[in-house]
Amino acid sequence: MDDTTTMIAGLRFLIVEDHGFQRWAIRHMLEELGAGNVLEAGDGRAALAILRDPHARVDIIISDLDMPGMDGMEFIRHAGAEGIAVSFILASALDRALISSVETMTTAYGIDLLGAIKKPVTANALVAAIRRYSLPRPHIERQPAAPIFTLAEIAQGFANREFESYFQPKVELATGAIKGVEALARWRHPQKGVVSPGAFIKLLEDSGHIDGLTMAMLDMSAICCRTWREGGLDATVSVNLSHKSLADVAFADRVTERVLAQNLDPRHVVLEVTESAATTHLGTALENLSRLRMRGFGLAIDDYGTGYSSMQQLSRIAFTELKIDQSFVRSASTQKSSRVILESSLEMAKRLNILAVAEGVETRPDWDLLVSLGCDLGQGYFVAAPMETGAFFHWLKTWKLSI
Ligand code: C2E
Ligand code: CA
Ligand code: CA
Repeated sequence: MDDTTTMIAGLRFLIVEDHGFQRWAIRHMLEELGAGNVLEAGDGRAALAILRDPHARVDIIISDLDMPGMDGMEFIRHAGAEGIAVSFILASALDRALISSVETMTTAYGIDLLGAIKKPVTANALVAAIRRYSLPRPHIERQPAAPIFTLAEIAQGFANREFESYFQPKVELATGAIKGVEALARWRHPQKGVVSPGAFIKLLEDSGHIDGLTMAMLDMSAICCRTWREGGLDATVSVNLSHKSLADVAFADRVTERVLAQNLDPRHVVLEVTESAATTHLGTALENLSRLRMRGFGLAIDDYGTGYSSMQQLSRIAFTELKIDQSFVRSASTQKSSRVILESSLEMAKRLNILAVAEGVETRPDWDLLVSLGCDLGQGYFVAAPMETGAFFHWLKTWKLSI
């Protein structure tokens, strides 16, 4: 058995489809691919009944959209609202633009979407979507319904030095060379394991404590960056800033002091801010960002495409890098609308004469498309997931572009 067959054999599927023959055809295809656990439902209502049964344990749902009774859209809404932990593959004969808007709706309802297939379903399309299941997908897991930690618990974790930085490389698409590394905060919780930033950043921001984390991240990032630079790797380190910090006029000075204290030249540090962070407290944000840029720091616009800034607003700030949000990158090879946004973002980066970085490069087709569009750098699971320091330095030694 190859890896894919082994993987499929271990998964439980639920086919939601009103048409008996099509249900049979998909079941047959899944079984041919090695699936041993396949359930069926004729519409959304029957599917929900199965999912609510604690013994059912479904991993992947393959659902039609157009069904009498409860249609696919309503079914997805209920599955999202009930927090059912399952991944979806949409299969529909509707036209591509309509499937695209349902794709967007699905993720907006908090559902993990593996792919959307235009009918007739083929085994190749099914396998491509199912394979995404084995990729780590923290964008779904890291959105807890309610905060699971209190500020006191976070402060205790901080005092116990349980916070650390993970590192994820950014590589040049044309050559595979590592050009930068993003630092991403993690909490190594003694009981809950490694906790993602979604569970603590907002609470730290709302309570006015985010700077403590930012400064600690700057320290760890500067130390590691110095280490890899001494080892001969000419790569920058990127640190995420919060919009809250930019409201304080003294912030730029504190960042500079921190980095200089670790003997790192600010030119080797990139600070990432989202479009909305850069434009929320416009006056102080511009003062801070201009001062940081003046001292040599690189500035990146993070999650580009998810905010509402205009090109004029962005051109006022001396950004050096444009990070195109992963939602457009991931769907650009299948969704026309995402592809248009991706292409125009690349065009804009070129006009502003700044580096274009694609986030969330997960698969080979994503990578190939970005190469063909002339994007500068890529970051994502296709290259490497964020890694703890030890694993990251080990990875650096073994990385070579195997494409
Ligand atoms: P971000 O700055 O957009 O960081 C990229 C996120 O995408 C990271 O999530 C990363 O693990 C994830 N990612 C990387 N490659 C892929 C991929 O191929 N596919 C998918 N689906 N995801 C990928 P993470 O580490 O959970 O961080 C979430 C967000 O938390 C970050 O988004 C950033 O906004 C924030 N954050 C992380 N560290 C810090 C920090 O030190 N300070 C502040 N203020 N915010 C931070
Ligand atoms: Ca970032
Ligand atoms: Ca981002």
